[in-house]
Parts: sequence; C-alpha cells; structure tokens
Amino acid sequence: MDVNEALALIRRVPDFPEPGVLFRDITPMLGNAEAFRTVVDAMAATLDDVDVVVAVDARGFFFGAAAAYSKGLGVVPVRKAGKLPAVGGRAGYSLEYGSAELEIPADIIQPGQRVAIVDDVLATGGTAAAACELVELAKAEVAGITVLLEIGALDGRQRLAGRKIDALLTV
Ligand code: 5GP
Repeated sequence: MDVNEALALIRRVPDFPEPGVLFRDITPMLGNAEAFRTVVDAMAATLDDVDVVVAVDARGFFFGAAAAYSKGLGVVPVRKAGKLPAVGGRAGYSLEYGSAELEIPADIIQPGQRVAIVDDVLATGGTAAAACELVELAKAEVAGITVLLEIGALDGRQRLAGRKIDALLTV
C-alpha cells in the first residue's frame, strides 16, 4: 500500500464537532494495519537530525510515538491543560472550533535539543504554533513539524512561517 492509498482511508465527516466544519476522521486509516505502518514509516522518514519527538494531544500520540519508536527516539507528550502532573510551561491557542491551552511536562526536553513536533492534522496552525512555543520555552529548537494531513485553505503554513513543515498530504 502506498501513502496515498493509506490516506484515502481518512473519512470526511461534515458538521463535526460543529456545523460547518468538515472533520477528517483518521480512525479507518488507524485501524488498517498496512495503512498505519505506511503512514508511520513516511512520517518517521522526515525525522532526520532530530533528538526527540513531541507528540500533540491526542491523535498526535499515535503517530509521534510510533515514528519515534521506529527512529529510536524518545517521545514527549504535549497535553491539553490539566492532564500533566508536572508542568513545565503552558501556551494558549485558538482552533477552527474554539480555544484551549497546551502544556509540556517539566524538565524532559533539554536546552539545545532538536525537537520534531508530530500531529495528525495541520488546520489553522494554532496547535502547532503553541507546541513550537512550548519547545522554545524549554530552550530547545524546533527541527520541524510533521503531520499526516494539511488543510491548505486554513493557512496553517502562513501562521508557521519559517518553520520546516512536512505533510504527507495537503488538501
Ligand atoms: P489547528 O490548531 O491547526 O487549527 O488544528 C489542528 C489540531 O486540531 C490538531 O491537533 C488536530 O488533531 C485537530 N484537528 C483540527 N481539524 C481536524 C480534523 O478535521 N481532523 C482531525 N483528525 N483533527 C483535526
């Protein structure tokens, strides 16, 4: 199976979680063994010259953890506020549908480390921008942002100007 066949399993769900939002549901792709391996391998291939992976709550955990494992790297969860027992920093962000805060665990990322941020979807870029802010708060360097799917019309790339962004597919 190639990457495009794997990504074709993503299901489009209109009006979720709010009217007017076309949600990309990755679960049919996640549940397919060949598709999951194919996309994880392709995401892992973007992680050269990286010391550690930051995986974004919640769907970024699947890809961040699997890609980090395959490259022999550690993985650090960036989580929605209130989930981490020892918080190293917090950053607010707005979403296509609402706003929230992300937190990074204390004292895991070391100053000067090169960090790859991994998530499933890049939409407006607010989530990835907050993850970048948290990495830089820890005095580490954002090596790049890797996502499965970029929704081009929402201009996330513009919000992340100057960052290296690897998307397996842009729609
Ligand atoms: P952004 O902050 O770039 O607007 O939104 C990206 C974040 O919201 C990601 O963490 C992603 O998981 C989630 N997200 C936004 N839209 C979608 C979507 O259509 N499908 C999925 N699976 N996640 C989405």
